[in-house]
Amino acid sequence: MALIVHKYGGTSMGSPERIKNVARRVAKWKSAGHQLVVVVSAMSGETNRLLDLAKSISSSPNPRELDVIASTGEQVAMGLLAMAISELGLKARSYTGAQVRILTDNAYNKARIQSIDESRIRSDLDEGMVVVVAGFQGVDERGNITTLGRGGSDTSAVALAAALKADECLIYTDVDGVYTTDPRVVPEARRLHAVTFEEMLEMASLGSKVLQIRSVEFAGKYKVPLRVLSSLTDPLMSLEEEAKSGTLITFEEDSKMEQAIISGIAFNRDEAKITVMGVPDRPGIAYTILGPIGDANIDVDMIIQNASVDGMTDFSFTVHRNEYQQALDVLNNQVKAHIKATDIRGDNRICKVSLVGVGMRTHAGIASKMFRTLSEEGINILMISTSEIKISVVIDEKYMELAVRTLHKAFDLDQPV
Ligand code: ASP
Ligand code: MG
Repeated sequence: MALIVHKYGGTSMGSPERIKNVARRVAKWKSAGHQLVVVVSAMSGETNRLLDLAKSISSSPNPRELDVIASTGEQVAMGLLAMAISELGLKARSYTGAQVRILTDNAYNKARIQSIDESRIRSDLDEGMVVVVAGFQGVDERGNITTLGRGGSDTSAVALAAALKADECLIYTDVDGVYTTDPRVVPEARRLHAVTFEEMLEMASLGSKVLQIRSVEFAGKYKVPLRVLSSLTDPLMSLEEEAKSGTLITFEEDSKMEQAIISGIAFNRDEAKITVMGVPDRPGIAYTILGPIGDANIDVDMIIQNASVDGMTDFSFTVHRNEYQQALDVLNNQVKAHIKATDIRGDNRICKVSLVGVGMRTHAGIASKMFRTLSEEGINILMISTSEIKISVVIDEKYMELAVRTLHKAFDLDQPV
């Protein structure tokens, strides 16, 4: 007997018929003798509907009340699933985050989990119950409802799996695993049988939407065995077959079956680039420019400072596109005159394309191959950044698809390994 956590996303819970299928799948696992905790998202579209509703009342909704509203989507879903499981003759009970006591800090709309009291869940499991828990939500010390940020149910599931020391956490979604890249951009993209936790972390932070990044951080920290798989397959397929499907997130590079150098290509259109032109090249200049940006709570991603000519230099960095205008305002109002910059230029029609793979550690020449491939297509690289296991370039947004497709082919990601 194993303790297994399942997580079903919005699409998987998208209709009464789909919820019944989830119940059938859960019942199958339970009947095989396992203890089951099931974390659910709101039915697809529901969280957006609730947030829109809030915005129709207030253009700047109170964050506390926003969480009160947004968290109800999961509450409905958990009740429906518990009912559907009971209809199949099993015992099931649902809990909100506050009822379990998933304790978070009080950062509404993006709260972080601090601790989980799993005693109630454990005693239910011991009574043979299937426990259904609302994802995406918790409660702060003072009893206020909080939510964990969009896509937060993944994090709820992994955190529960960690707290319960579950044998495995299965994340059921509308794709059948993690792909070499988005199949909507490259139809030849392949499903990866396994990906290392570090690679998954890079991919999630570089724009792959399969898992919420915080859930991957949690999985890494607590070594939660994680698998991403489809909820849209036959719910009654054999357990052996199901346990092998999807993509396993591993902690051991050696256990990775595929030994490709590059595991995947991530891309992200959410970036914008800002260049501060003609600034004096002297100590403290980066701080003078980025200090006010940080004070405005704007995250900076890539940073480049050019070599100076006659003591003057250009300084470029990227920010999230949503914060682009605000960043420009900060620079124009607080920084430009102060450092006597000649100009502030911005470009929000850029994107970031990244190669990810632990194989890069032991293989030289990946970067030059990437740059050559892009140059052969006439794609100009605006910025570059690297880490041990990834190389990212910023390019003009209009070349994004072309870049991803050519790199996918150049690195043989379309070839079975
Ligand atoms: N329902 C929430 C959202 O749409 C949380 C989740 O689905 O994970 O973001
Ligand atoms: Mg999701």
